[in-house]
Amino acid sequence: MYIIEVASECAPVSKVGGLADVIGGLSAELSLRGNAVEIILPFYDCMRYDQIFNLTVSYNYLPVPWYDGVIPCVVWFGLVHGKRCFFIDPQSKDNFFRRNTFYGCDDDTMRFAFFSKAVLEFMLQTNRRPDCIHCHDWQTGLLPVLLFEIYKFHGMENQRVCYTIHNFKHQGQCGNEILAATGLNRPEYYFDYQQLRDNHDPFALNCLKAGIVYSNFVNTVSTHHAWESRYTDYGFGLVHTLNMHQQKIGGILNGIDYNTWNPEIDHFIPYQYTFASIENKYRNKEELRKRFWLYHDARPIISYVGRLDNQKGIDLICHTANYAVNNGAQFVLLGTGSDHSIYERFLSLKNQLNDNVHCHIELGFDEDLSHLIYAGSDMVIVPSAFEPCGLSQMIAMKYGTIPVVRSTGGLVNSVFDRDYSELPWYDRNGYTFTHMDNYGIESALKRAVGLYYDYPGHFRSLIENAMSYDFSWNIPGKHYENVFDFIRHK
Ligand code: ADP
Repeated sequence: MYIIEVASECAPVSKVGGLADVIGGLSAELSLRGNAVEIILPFYDCMRYDQIFNLTVSYNYLPVPWYDGVIPCVVWFGLVHGKRCFFIDPQSKDNFFRRNTFYGCDDDTMRFAFFSKAVLEFMLQTNRRPDCIHCHDWQTGLLPVLLFEIYKFHGMENQRVCYTIHNFKHQGQCGNEILAATGLNRPEYYFDYQQLRDNHDPFALNCLKAGIVYSNFVNTVSTHHAWESRYTDYGFGLVHTLNMHQQKIGGILNGIDYNTWNPEIDHFIPYQYTFASIENKYRNKEELRKRFWLYHDARPIISYVGRLDNQKGIDLICHTANYAVNNGAQFVLLGTGSDHSIYERFLSLKNQLNDNVHCHIELGFDEDLSHLIYAGSDMVIVPSAFEPCGLSQMIAMKYGTIPVVRSTGGLVNSVFDRDYSELPWYDRNGYTFTHMDNYGIESALKRAVGLYYDYPGHFRSLIENAMSYDFSWNIPGKHYENVFDFIRHK
């Protein structure tokens, strides 16, 4: 099959969160399975250009209709860890992707509407006719609308769209200006609840809803979240829309890319290891401590790597920092967030715990450093309020680091409590809790730290269980292939 992935992120060139990992890992797996795969991304000025091999101009004039005129684009091509990537670079004074940030601009919906339109123009003008276009999140939600309302009538009638939602919370609500800009026009047609009209704000269109209504298949990133989004508040106002389209909704648990996340071959950690050479994990732990000036003793290191967002359970992350240092453990955090008040909160936590030799808080985005943290920690926490899939628990397990997670979304499908799961003991791989409060997370942390100190042999068995899980893209890759194959014959 010929598959084109269209997304706003791809690891490691443009990464904010898990979406980037998915684009990189899934594309590699689909290629390995014999498909022709291309990725189309915005040409951000803040990308990691050092990770793009042979970046060259592929098309120097791609005119993209926009309002009553056109915006000319340059299309770049380069290899990202062997994957074929095209980058759309609009040449206009809007400077859509030259903002020194991936997201967070007032005109984000316009920026990504333009991107969606430019991607289809690129396919049309360069005669690309993929079997399946795989779109992701609200940023590409308008693409299937444009495809089936406009481009279908210009020679793209055989293309199908699979739409994967990584986060229901961000939906790209916008005004009707976007209709004029993209050439969809006809506000009376699109401002309908069956169409793109937001279910709660009668004056807004909703890009995520657009993707759900128009795509041939809608997917979210775990089976549990597929259920939650339809039957609980985690559908964030889209429950009705999802139920209207229930015949085309599914859930596929993400994988992780074991070429990137694998302690056996990881170049970002000083000591590579497998379970058979687990003592090297503890040498990495010492390196981590050296790097962060943490005290060297027998304590376990509990860490958090991720975005600092209310979704992630900010109160519980802060609580864990204090709990760890007061209960015989150490705490390490690596995180960034776009919300100023949350950032301030972590800054003050950092100042409060700065002199503590058992805690280090690093506010910033550092992919390379994250490898050392996963390898050098004993446990990671993922205390999310909701979590469509979550990758950090899967990455952690590959590094023999025990996840302590709240049972929600994809965490339900990937972490099985050592003490309470109904699975056989060798399939239990971490600790879970349900209640989103201090007692909830303490109930899990206490058991994890207790096992670490009192039953080190059992703790090691748990590490072995976690490390032997297969969270590669192998199985999810097959599921995606089945979905693409199914819709292309419809
Ligand atoms: P989400 O997609 O909601 O951000 P996931 O758990 O699915 O959460 O994916 C997060 C990914 O981003 C993981 O690979 C994690 O290691 C990485 N990550 C998040 N924040 C940072 C950071 N500040 N520095 C380095 N890596 C980060």
